[in-house]
Amino acid sequence: MSTVLSITDLHKVFGARPVLRGVSLDVAEHEVVALIGSSGSGKSTLLRCVNLLEPLDDGTIHLDGEDITDPRVNPDKVRQRIGIVFQAFNLFPHMSVLDNVTLAPRRVHGLPAAEARDKAMALLDRVGLASRAGDYPDRLSGGQQQRVAIVRALVNAPRLLLLDEVTSALDPELVGEVLSLIRDLKADGMTMLLATHEMGFARQVADRVAFLDGGVLVEQGPPAQVLGEPREPRTRQFLQRII
Ligand code: ADP
Ligand code: MG
Repeated sequence: MSTVLSITDLHKVFGARPVLRGVSLDVAEHEVVALIGSSGSGKSTLLRCVNLLEPLDDGTIHLDGEDITDPRVNPDKVRQRIGIVFQAFNLFPHMSVLDNVTLAPRRVHGLPAAEARDKAMALLDRVGLASRAGDYPDRLSGGQQQRVAIVRALVNAPRLLLLDEVTSALDPELVGEVLSLIRDLKADGMTMLLATHEMGFARQVADRVAFLDGGVLVEQGPPAQVLGEPREPRTRQFLQRII
């Protein structure tokens, strides 16, 4: 299987503070990799670096074999190939669900409105929200809003989907519908790198779990191994703290 994402020796410093200290991580096509680690361990920064929202201090990131950290690369073009969804839904409150989903394909990628609309409606239909296309986000539950945010990230048919704790801001009863959508995406073969606090979900859905601690990727492997029989003392300590 081909490698979609390849992160090599990534370093990121905020001020004098090293936040990522030589992280290397690959994600293969159709693979789901779950990033776990305490708050502040660098998960969000890593995802933001992959989407070129943060400049790196050292290292390289390849997407489908292309060095996207090369200064000659246009970040907007890269972001067309990577979808990202954050913890807060970040939908535009003054736009309908449909306009939220079609904004980027129309404005950024120049897709004709009718085509963008058809794509968006097909995706909204798949997540059971076609009937809400004309509603403003505040009329939707948190779980519905997050599903719309995921649809918005999918509308360009990205090669890679980055999900940053997409269930953390949801009421517990709404978490399931979002996790279930992620399971469906995995079944469709979507390649995903996701940061999560949901260890049960990571165990069920991830092909691989990677544990970050203080900006260092301490351990990675199959979920049963990393979560069930961690090799590294720091992984064991983290798991004991959260369970
Ligand atoms: P996580 O997502 O694992 O909780 P983050 O990547 O958000 O971790 O943060 C890692 C570290 O980087 C934290 O110490 C955080 O305070 C710091 N950090 C994150 N973003 C910034 C920023 N824009 N400026 C300064 N420090 C930051
Ligand atoms: Mg985070």
